[in-house]
Amino acid sequence: MTTEARVEIDRARLKALIASERHRFVAAHPRSQAAFERARGSMLGGVPMNWMDRWAGGFPVVLDHAEGASLTDLDGHTYVDFCLGDTGAMAGHSPQPTVRAVVDRMRHGITAMLPTEDAIWVAEELQTRFGLARWQFTLSATDANRFAIRLAREITHRPKVLVFNYCYHGTVDETFVVLDGEKLKPRAHNVGPPVDPSITTRVVEWNDVDALERELGWGDVACVLAEPALTNIGIVLPLPGYHEALRDVTRRAGTLLVIDETHTMSAGPKGYTGAHGLRPDMLTVGKALAGGIPIGAFGMTDEVKRLVVRARIDDTGGIGGTLAGNALSMAAARATLEHVLTEDAYAHMIPLAGRFGAGVEEVISERRLPWHVVVLGARAEYAFCAQPPRDGGAAHAAIDHELDTYTHLNALNSGVLLTPFHNMALMSPRTTDMDVDRHTEVFRDGVERLLEAG
Ligand code: PMP
Repeated sequence: MTTEARVEIDRARLKALIASERHRFVAAHPRSQAAFERARGSMLGGVPMNWMDRWAGGFPVVLDHAEGASLTDLDGHTYVDFCLGDTGAMAGHSPQPTVRAVVDRMRHGITAMLPTEDAIWVAEELQTRFGLARWQFTLSATDANRFAIRLAREITHRPKVLVFNYCYHGTVDETFVVLDGEKLKPRAHNVGPPVDPSITTRVVEWNDVDALERELGWGDVACVLAEPALTNIGIVLPLPGYHEALRDVTRRAGTLLVIDETHTMSAGPKGYTGAHGLRPDMLTVGKALAGGIPIGAFGMTDEVKRLVVRARIDDTGGIGGTLAGNALSMAAARATLEHVLTEDAYAHMIPLAGRFGAGVEEVISERRLPWHVVVLGARAEYAFCAQPPRDGGAAHAAIDHELDTYTHLNALNSGVLLTPFHNMALMSPRTTDMDVDRHTEVFRDGVERLLEAG
């Protein structure tokens, strides 16, 4: 770990490099650019969903095809894909067992408002992996979180949710609120909130046990919704003992603990929960579970199940979704869990993330940069501050948009795809040592050009 800020970044040079990288990007992507221009005539902002225009080049590369850990755009450039659909494709693009199961299922009924045997298999597998007694399925992790929150409110008869500063759990209304000193304020770009989220939510910093105890002490919090490590504001790991405290304090407060494993499923085949023996009351997951086919799931303990059954919740109560648990999602999830995201796959992916982290760390210390890299299972992320922040507020304050943009553009122009909005790299079962070393080489080259004397 680099502890001293020994190198100053020349901001004028950084700006000039960004401009020349952007120029290079535009020149190399005429077909993606033309597609984007055309798309502006039919889609809001020229993209199917607003965040897709937030890639560093000014317009997104348009996907032509992707396979394993590799992706090719409309202009014929092939990338090593470390973004992997921001975890949706953590199983690798179009994993063969999933594709076979999906094609087969497509021929025999996609959705029928009826359960399939695959659903039972998947629920049993999730029981084994996460140790929770009962499961329900949705189409996204967002929905899994929304429904877990609703159930928690219903069975505890409490109105509020507690989340961590700068968390992200999908488009869940209650979670778009951050700390502003002692007060709460809606997070920037909180689009059209139904109510001011400070009415529904309490917020504390990650790793702050005293604040957690204080806020749960009000007795009005139905559940704490937590990633086991923050992964959406860089990676912010729990301090030693934090999870024990979180479990203990929530239990004493009569507040349910909901662990969101949507990203930390990268920590191992049983997620962070299985790898570290967590004991949540509920657990939510999604994204990679069905190899890229939409799915979400939430599980609950026997105790929570008992309370839910007693509350007689039915499908007009804010929990549901016509396509939830559809035959196609369940077939895809079964194949993915049975044949792709296996223990063997993680035994391949996790050391690769270690190799990725070591490569980045080597460049950082060689060049005495005040930066750091964090590895969490099959996921790695670097940030432009010397010490890993201990909470979301500190991680947010350390964001360096210019360096982010430069890193992404440099990578993109050199055939490496990183996750937009942060410097996250994810390993799939199909990622190789060579892929990882390619990133190290590109990262080193970007750093060297940045530090070259004018
Ligand atoms: N939970 C976490 C931790 C996430 O990072 C995300 C999305 N990035 C979600 C839930 C929501 O996933 P989706 O957008 O697929 O619903």
